[in-house]
Amino acid sequence: MNLIAVAKSLKAFTQKNATLEAIYKEICSNKSIPFKNFLKPIDLIKVVFLTKKILNGEDPKEIMSKLDNNLFLFSTVEFEKNEQELDCEKCSGDGKVTCTSCNRDGMKECNMCGGSGEDEYGDDCDYCHGWGRVECTDCNGTHYSQKCSQCEGYGYYFTEDYVPYEIGYYVSYDETFKTTLEQKLLRNDTEEPILNSEKTFLLSMNFIGAKDGESENIKGIFANTTHLLEVNTEDVGENLIYKNGKISPTGFYNDLDKFK
Ligand SMILES: [Zn+2]
Ligand SMILES: [Zn+2]
Ligand SMILES: [Zn+2]
Repeated sequence: MNLIAVAKSLKAFTQKNATLEAIYKEICSNKSIPFKNFLKPIDLIKVVFLTKKILNGEDPKEIMSKLDNNLFLFSTVEFEKNEQELDCEKCSGDGKVTCTSCNRDGMKECNMCGGSGEDEYGDDCDYCHGWGRVECTDCNGTHYSQKCSQCEGYGYYFTEDYVPYEIGYYVSYDETFKTTLEQKLLRNDTEEPILNSEKTFLLSMNFIGAKDGESENIKGIFANTTHLLEVNTEDVGENLIYKNGKISPTGFYNDLDKFK
């Protein structure tokens, strides 16, 4: 398939100033763009870059050989703050739980008469006036106002052992940038890389909420800021699949996979 011709046909579907991400999203989500299912994921990525060139009024042929030879993938992982506000599981964030001392109507059996409503002489019980039941004192008759014991009524709690993280998967043909990334990896430099938005775009962002207890492992292995995880210069095409309306990288990032 002639990818430049495909990219030219996409001009009609994209805004003039569209970013690479916007072009990519449009191709993946617009149902009236028919050919995407016939394109290999790697070609779909090339088409995104080519379309951007065309929108810029530049010659798309210029980058064709770069796209064929220099495309690479890389990933970053970004940790959220480790002090996370989590909804209390016991009360679902209400801060209150149902009273266990009474029935749904907030009433419980009268202690004085044992629920009979009568005193020892067969008269109405002074305490419950013959009803046999009295308002529950634990919840003042509301049946729903016992302070949750797990969160002490706050409805949420903070945890220090819960470090959710996001893995970003990017694609690029920026050779200079690739060198920068590889040097960062060697130095274990965790500073977030600065992208050239004309040559690099975000394929997908996966948010992963680590379970309690796993966070310390994760933090032990990776820095607690943005961390360059991996640069993949192998055959990019083989590391990509197209599913659920987007291109997903596959076959690497093993270090974090086990924490999913
Ligand atoms: Zn009574
Ligand atoms: Zn009660
Ligand atoms: Zn609670």
